[in-house]
Amino acid sequence: MEEIPDLSYTYKPSDLMMAFMIFIIGLGLFYGISCNYITTEQKPNVSIAKKDLKYGFDTESHYFEEIEVKPNQYLGDILGLYGIGHRTISGLAEKAKDVYSVRMIQAGRDLTFVKKDSCSNPFCFVYQPNPFTYITYEFEDTIDVCRNFIDYETCIETASGVIETSLWSAMVKNGLTPGIIDKMEDALASSVDFYHTQKGDEFKLLFERKYIKDRPVSIGQILGAYYKNSQGEFYSVYFENDKYEGFYDQDGRANSSAFLRSPVKYSRISSKFNKNRFHPILKRRKAHLGTDYAAPRGTPIRAVADGVVSRKGYTEGNGKYIKIKHNKTYQTQYLHMNNYAKGMRNGVRVKQGQTIGFVGSTGLATGPHVCFRFWKNGKQINHLREIFPPAKPMKEEDLPEFFDVRDDVVFQLQSIQSASSDPIKPEATIP
Ligand SMILES: [Zn+2]
Repeated sequence: MEEIPDLSYTYKPSDLMMAFMIFIIGLGLFYGISCNYITTEQKPNVSIAKKDLKYGFDTESHYFEEIEVKPNQYLGDILGLYGIGHRTISGLAEKAKDVYSVRMIQAGRDLTFVKKDSCSNPFCFVYQPNPFTYITYEFEDTIDVCRNFIDYETCIETASGVIETSLWSAMVKNGLTPGIIDKMEDALASSVDFYHTQKGDEFKLLFERKYIKDRPVSIGQILGAYYKNSQGEFYSVYFENDKYEGFYDQDGRANSSAFLRSPVKYSRISSKFNKNRFHPILKRRKAHLGTDYAAPRGTPIRAVADGVVSRKGYTEGNGKYIKIKHNKTYQTQYLHMNNYAKGMRNGVRVKQGQTIGFVGSTGLATGPHVCFRFWKNGKQINHLREIFPPAKPMKEEDLPEFFDVRDDVVFQLQSIQSASSDPIKPEATIP
């Protein structure tokens, strides 16, 4: 009997997550910084450099056919439509495991079938998981699966803006994608409280953008960020060498905080820390000794600092929760989880930013949110009012190298035309 390959697989949200992770890892690998304005990355296997090639195939002697993968559609069924037999399909699935598993192909994306002419059967199909990579699955004489990289350019660009209503609208107005907001928040995490932005606050950014054939495809590293609010002016400089990697202030102190300000990205505070709150379910006054962050069910909840899980539990009020001990002084607790992340149990070590569970509404909760509780010396406090000790500066002998980079970045940030509500324009040409 012929063996039926195991392709009984439908595409789930976790596939998307996995593909995204691979995308991010991919970005990390090809990433490079240069002080030149435009740099061309040198990468192996550049296959579509010439105009008459598509996915490495000569467009004059090949015929291409695209098909969108439908939700719940089996890859085996799609390949069957092109006359590809079970034996070939299982061979492809096996060979792909170490390169790019066919299980990671997502619904909603295209598969491109390559033929010698319009009538013949295809000998290859191509899947492109992200703008920088494509996978060729060939099955002419032998089965071959290859990961190929697309050549891109990295340009260094600038942006600036003044907040009129929100940071979000100021950035969108200036032609920036929401993803960069997150990156700017990371860059300035320890110095600026982005939950309390004010009208009139100003920002400037120096960042990389990646282009494929003159088309912008993604934002790369932020190289420098500047923020001005009623508290003062803040600079953040990206610095990387064999000892350091991350954002630093002008004195070379790490600009990342020992504690993230919130346990959920892109969330909004739905209820503040309040010693005298009217409880929406219990219908009476009851202190709210936490900060609630509303977010869609299933959104990852992250540990705000390194620590050890001291309690993974369930109570009627808290629902599913996790408590983390960070050091002698601080503990944090995350309530109403839909479910825990894999591997969570008492005594397990977690890193800052690690996903520990997912947003839900277990226990006493009106809707999906995280009730985030912060303990200092055994007492619950409002973490948004807590001033954490600043990070230690770099070693003295490492500072000169950092100062070189800092001076360059700060100079470039200062040269950005002071924020206005006009959209960002390309650099003016000198007459
Ligand atoms: Zn709460």
